[in-house]
Amino acid sequence: MGYSLSRSPAASLPGMNILTSFLGTGAACEHVPATPPVPASSTCQECGSRFSLRMCATCGHVGCCESQAGHARAHARSEDHPVIMAMPVGKGFTWCYEENTYVG
Ligand SMILES: [Zn+2]
Ligand SMILES: [Zn+2]
Ligand SMILES: [Zn+2]
Repeated sequence: MGYSLSRSPAASLPGMNILTSFLGTGAACEHVPATPPVPASSTCQECGSRFSLRMCATCGHVGCCESQAGHARAHARSEDHPVIMAMPVGKGFTWCYEENTYVG
């Protein structure tokens, strides 16, 4: 009657890998500027949305999120500015479209 419990550490590895990739990417992004710019607007510069805004970390452009018209992403793609920061800056996440992951 051999115990099969010795398999359980291996079984937990996939979960650990997910955790590692989720937490381990923070320092990898080289696109995030050391000093973020000042937001160019307090509303989406394309449609005027006032909530769930993202600022371009490269130039300070302000756009709305992807559950709205996605103007922040449209800007990132068209201008080749890969990093956006949730507003208010410093309170939310930072996302890199180049790596397609949260980087802060
Ligand atoms: Zn990046
Ligand atoms: Zn918009
Ligand atoms: Zn920009």
